[in-house]
Amino acid sequence: MAYKPDTICVQGGYRPKNGESRIPPIAQSTTFYYESTQGMADLFDLKADGYFYTRLANPTVAAFEGKVTELEGGVAGIGCSSGMAASTLAVFTVCGAGDNIVSSSAIYGGTFNLFSVTLPKLGIETRFFDPDAPAEEIEKLIDDKTRLIFTETVANPAIKILDFDKIAAIAKKHQVLFAVDNTLATPVLCRPFEWGANLIIHSTTKYLDGHAAALGGMIVDGGNFNFKGNPRYPSFNVPDESYHGLVYADLPAAQFATKCRAQMMRDIGAMMAPQNAFLAWLGCDTLALRMERHSSNAAKVAAYLAGHPKIDWVWHASLPDNKYHAIAQKYLPKGTGGMLSFGIKGDVKRAAKFMEALKLITQETHVADVRSCVLHPASTTHRQLSKEELEEAGVPENLVRLSVGIEAPEDILADLEQALEKV
Ligand code: PLP
Repeated sequence: MAYKPDTICVQGGYRPKNGESRIPPIAQSTTFYYESTQGMADLFDLKADGYFYTRLANPTVAAFEGKVTELEGGVAGIGCSSGMAASTLAVFTVCGAGDNIVSSSAIYGGTFNLFSVTLPKLGIETRFFDPDAPAEEIEKLIDDKTRLIFTETVANPAIKILDFDKIAAIAKKHQVLFAVDNTLATPVLCRPFEWGANLIIHSTTKYLDGHAAALGGMIVDGGNFNFKGNPRYPSFNVPDESYHGLVYADLPAAQFATKCRAQMMRDIGAMMAPQNAFLAWLGCDTLALRMERHSSNAAKVAAYLAGHPKIDWVWHASLPDNKYHAIAQKYLPKGTGGMLSFGIKGDVKRAAKFMEALKLITQETHVADVRSCVLHPASTTHRQLSKEELEEAGVPENLVRLSVGIEAPEDILADLEQALEKV
């Protein structure tokens, strides 16, 4: 029986057998014991399921992978050491030197940096597009070396909502893998596989953990992409000599996830730590409840700020006049999460004064945990971007990013009010 996301948050990913611990134990071990050589050889040949080395798989990480995979409705998940590791491993699974990816420019600053600076050093080109551009314009960026289209469901910090139908149609037409970073929506608010995505990336550091306790990332394979015979993906269609001649496109399921784990996790080793997987697994228990509160608190804050004379503009799709309001109703009908951005009238110094006057809401390089926090992206997460790149990423210099927590909404509003009185 297919459970609802709220149930999967609580019950997914781990089912104890008779007498076993009710929640997953932390398998704090790098390695696993086997009685026979053949038993171990079968694991290496992917003929049997099991664990042999924590860089590739671990029972606690598997419990968390199972929960997120069930939540997203995918076929396999891979726990990574961070969200950045997840994006990097996802790209490396399909790209080599000479290939390119086509990416939304409205993405997290760290991912933008990876794509615009680091990947080109390895011979992988990124072609950026404005997610609001017409399909014909985005399509022009795709050529026979394009291996991946990369987007975010709720773009951080521009709070743009992705038009899934537009991107899915392009990806399908050109038979290119469609990846979505679903970090800020979470599968509670949006399930990208239902809208045509093939791959989901998470920084589990954010809402999935939700308590600012554990760094982590996740790649979820939708199992809904045809690699077999697809000329864009030769590495899926020829024997992998580094893995006993395996042809990934011939596997019955989870072709992407198997290649990613067997090749990329083996060689790069950016695996999620068991302790972090445990914390994130536990965090997910309350994910559905938290996302409801994050969304309703943020909608109240957005409405308050939008009506304040000292505020220039507010971006949150809950506002009826927001550009993404209609699209959000379609793809995120339960709410758009706790992230919002706004500009204070006046210069950058005024924004800084306001942020320093906040008492309950703290300044942090973080978003999407239970505590409300603010950040000035142009001087922190996005400081590596030029003024032009900031504009391209939809991040004006005076933008204040507010991650609305699950505190009592009255207290959050009172804190904003007293800080605005001081500027
Ligand atoms: N994706 C999004 C949308 C993010 O907000 C972040 C971090 O803020 C990342 C990816 C990177 O994740 P991590 O910090 O876990 O490496």
